[in-house]
Amino acid sequence: MSTIRFQALKETAGRKPVKVEELDRKSAIFGSNVFNDKAMRQFLTSEAYQAVKGAVQYGTKIDRKLADYVAMGMKEWALSKGVTHYTHWFQPLTGTTAEKHDAFFETSFDGSDPIEKFAGTQLVQQEPDASSFPNGGIRNTFEARGYTAWDPTSPAFIFGTTLCIPTVFVSYTGEALDYKAPLLRALNAVDEAATDVCRYFDKNVKKVTPTLGWEQEYFLIDKALAASRPDITLTGRTLLGHTSAKGQQLEDHYFGSIPTRVLNYMRDLENECMLLGIPVKTRHNEVAPNQFELAPIFEETNLAVDHNSLLMDVMQKVAERHDFKVLFHEKPFQGVNGSGKHNNWSLATDTGINLLGPGKTPMSNLQFLTFFINTIKAVYQNEQLLRASIASASNDHRLGANEAPPAIISVFIGQQLTKVLEELEGVSNGKLSPEEKTDLKLNVVGKIPDVLLDNTDRNRTSPFAFTGNKFEFRAVGSNSNCANSMTVLNAIVAKQLKDFKKEVDALIDSKKMKKDDAIFNVLREYIKETKNILFEGDGYSDEWEVEAAKRGLSNNKTTPEALKARVSKEALALFEELNVMNHVEVEARYEIELEEYAKKIQIEGRVLGDIARNHVIPTAIRYQNILIENVKGLKEIFGSKFEEIGKEQIFLIKEISEHISGINSKVEEMTEERKKANALETAEEQAAAYCNKVKPFFDVIRKHCDKLELLVDDELWTLTKYRELLFTR
Ligand code: ADP
Ligand code: MG
Repeated sequence: MSTIRFQALKETAGRKPVKVEELDRKSAIFGSNVFNDKAMRQFLTSEAYQAVKGAVQYGTKIDRKLADYVAMGMKEWALSKGVTHYTHWFQPLTGTTAEKHDAFFETSFDGSDPIEKFAGTQLVQQEPDASSFPNGGIRNTFEARGYTAWDPTSPAFIFGTTLCIPTVFVSYTGEALDYKAPLLRALNAVDEAATDVCRYFDKNVKKVTPTLGWEQEYFLIDKALAASRPDITLTGRTLLGHTSAKGQQLEDHYFGSIPTRVLNYMRDLENECMLLGIPVKTRHNEVAPNQFELAPIFEETNLAVDHNSLLMDVMQKVAERHDFKVLFHEKPFQGVNGSGKHNNWSLATDTGINLLGPGKTPMSNLQFLTFFINTIKAVYQNEQLLRASIASASNDHRLGANEAPPAIISVFIGQQLTKVLEELEGVSNGKLSPEEKTDLKLNVVGKIPDVLLDNTDRNRTSPFAFTGNKFEFRAVGSNSNCANSMTVLNAIVAKQLKDFKKEVDALIDSKKMKKDDAIFNVLREYIKETKNILFEGDGYSDEWEVEAAKRGLSNNKTTPEALKARVSKEALALFEELNVMNHVEVEARYEIELEEYAKKIQIEGRVLGDIARNHVIPTAIRYQNILIENVKGLKEIFGSKFEEIGKEQIFLIKEISEHISGINSKVEEMTEERKKANALETAEEQAAAYCNKVKPFFDVIRKHCDKLELLVDDELWTLTKYRELLFTR
C-alpha cells in the first residue's frame, strides 16, 4: 500500500471522538456573540439604538454622527468580549465569504498614545483592494476600487477574536459586485409588491418579509483520508474511484444512529451556531454513507442567507478540530446520492400572517390563494430564469441524474390543492352571482385549512413543491450561495404581484367589478394559463422528460445552456424594472458564471489527467511487472506449457496494457481540446467548449482508471478507495 494511503488509514483508525464542552442551555447562550437587540440596548445610546432600528425596519439612513455612536458602542461591546480586530464581512461572487481584518489598535507614528479606536466611517464604509475579486469587467483596472458598505439589517457578530460586520460589496460606480446587494434589492421589491397586494385584504399590513429556511446537506470525511486524495483536495470531489461493493443500497444510513465522532462534531458546531445566533434545530444522517443534514428555524431571508454563508465557513473550521473535512460539493462520489440545499420560502406580514399558510376565514384563504397562485405563475413564466439561478458545474451532476430534481422546473401542489384550483377555474367570467360567491366561500376557499392539514402526500421528486405552508425550492445546490436563487425567486414573485395588482385594479376601475370578483377573475385566468408548470408525477422518470418537452418546458441540462436565460431580453427587463440589477450587472454576472464554469472544468480536467498519469498508470505498470515476473517464472518451471498455465495472468497483462493506452490517448486528446477551448474568444464559447468538448473525456478516462482499480493488487493502489472514504468515521 502506498505510504500516503497507509498513513491516512492508520491515522483515521486511531482517532478518538474529540471531547466537546457542554455549554449552558441553548436558549441562554443563543446570540451571545451577536450585536443583537439586547447588546444594542446595553451598549448604544437610545438615539443610536433608534437609528439602527429605523434602518432595519424602514430602511432609513443613519447619519455620520449617529454612525460614530453606533461604532463606539459596537467597539465597547466587542472589547468587552476580548475582540481585537474588526472586518467588513462580504460575499463576493467567488461563492465564499471574504474578510480583511484590521486591529482596533491605533497609535501615533512615534508610538505614543496607543488606543483602541473604531469610528463611524470605518463601520459604514471600507475600500478593500478588490481588484482580485470577480467583476465581469465592471471594474476596469484603472478604476479598480470597490467598496463595502454596512448592512445594518444583518447584525454584526464575533467570530474568534474578530468583529464581523456584514456588508454589501459594490463598485465605485455603484454596481453590485456581490450576492447581497441584488438580494436586498429583490427583497425590497417583493416587500413593496406584496404589501400592495395584501392591502386588498388587510389595510394594516405595512411590510412583507420574505422568509427562508435552508436545509444544508454535506459529507463528512476524515481529514487524513480526504488529504490523501488530490482530487478531493483540489476539486472538492472524487474524479475517479470504483464504487464500493456496499454503497447506499441497504438504506441503512438515512436517519440511522449518528456515529459518536460525528455527533461530537455536530454538538460542537451547534454550540458555535448558538453563540453566533444561527438557530440550528435539526440534524440527521442523510441517504448516502457519511452524508448528513443540518437545518435551522427559518428567518428573514437576508439574515438566513448570511447565516448559511457563515455556517458553511464555521462548519469547515469546527471540522478541523475534529479531524474532519466537510464536502459541500453537490456530487462528491459517483454512485451514491449527492447533496442539495432545499430552500424553504414564504412571505410573512408585519401583522404576523404567513401568506402561504391557509387562514381561518374565506377572506384570508382568498389571500392565501392569491399568493399561492401568483407564485405558481411567477415560476411558470420564469422557469428558465429560476433554472439559471441554480446552475453551476457541480450542480449539473445532480440535476437530472436520477436522484435529484430534474433540470426541468415544475411545481408540485398536491391533490387537494389541485382540486381547489380546478374548482376555481370554473368561476364564471365577469361579476359573480351571490350564490356563486357563497358557494366559493363555503365550499372551495372555506375548506382549504381542513384540506391541507391532511395533505400528507409529499412528492420528493419535484424541484419546487408546496409543502403545506411554504414552497420548497429543492433544486438548489449544497455548495451554492442561496442569495442567487433567492434573488431570482423574490424578484420574479415581485414582478408577478405587481402585474397582478395592475390587472385587478383595471377590472375594478374599468369594469366596475367588486374587489373579490376581480381577484377571482384574474386568478381564474392564471390557473388556466399556468397548468403546464404543474406536475404531480415522478420527476425522475423518462416519461416526464417527454411530457415536459410537449408542454414546452425547458430542460437545460448544462450550465452554459441554462445560464443563457439570465441575459434574455425578458430577464434584463424584469431586473431593470424592479431595480434589482441593471443590464451591466446582469451581463457581468453572466460572464463571471461562465468563466467560473470553464475554470472549474479546466481544473478538473488537469487534476484528472495528473492523477491518471501519475498515480494510476505507474501503479498499473508496477502490478503488470509483477505479473510479467510471474509469467516468466511459470515459463521457467513449466517450459512450453506455461502459456496454458499462465493464461489468466497473460490476459491480465494485456488488459492492463489496453487500459493504460486508453488513459494515455484520452488524456492526450483531452489536453488538446483544452488548448483549443482556451484559445476561444468569448466566455460563452469557452464555457460551451469545456462543456461539450472537454468534459465528455472525464467519464471515458475514469472508466479505464476504475477498471484498473479492480484489477490491480490492493496493496499497490495508491489512492484511498471509496469504501475507505465512505465507511470510515
Ligand atoms: P421537511 O421539509 O424536512 O419535512 P419542515 O417542513 O419541518 O421539514 O421544514 C423544513 C424547513 O422549512 C425548516 O428549515 C423550517 O424552518 C423551514 N420553514 C418552515 N416554515 C417556513 C416558512 N414559513 N418560511 C420559510 N421556511 C420555513
Ligand atoms: Mg425539505
